[in-house]
Amino acid sequence: MSEVRELYQEIILDHNKKPRNYQVLDDANHKADGHNPLCGDRVTIYVRLNGEKIENIAFQGKGCAISTASASLMTEAVKGKTVEEARQAFERFHDLLTKDTDLLSQLSEMGKLAALAGVRDFPMRVKCATLAWHTLNAALDNEEIPVSTE
Ligand code: ZN
Repeated sequence: MSEVRELYQEIILDHNKKPRNYQVLDDANHKADGHNPLCGDRVTIYVRLNGEKIENIAFQGKGCAISTASASLMTEAVKGKTVEEARQAFERFHDLLTKDTDLLSQLSEMGKLAALAGVRDFPMRVKCATLAWHTLNAALDNEEIPVSTE
């Protein structure tokens, strides 16, 4: 597993240094702020929802490497997906981080998100890794942002 671990470490470092979809989404119609007081991570998620489809997604924030990398990986994982698919992805991701399941059997279907599987050994960090996902759920649950008529 050590080569796999190194690869995962690289993915996290890369996404922390160069977060994907890191911007304000001007035409977002759903938005939510998330805060993880245990670590001080803050994230804002912007979603452009078209019907049930996540047409575009972006984030802004400040936090530890795990929270930033996780938000970046999350935006890549759910862009173009439906709301239902995104919620299922979060469930699988959450299970990966918190349940004592056979890791290898899940890794293949998780793609790059599996890079964060290592936090299961550090329960405090699970909140860093799931912050962006909880905030995505909140953004999807939020009322649609009214379009300005000015
Ligand atoms: Zn953190």
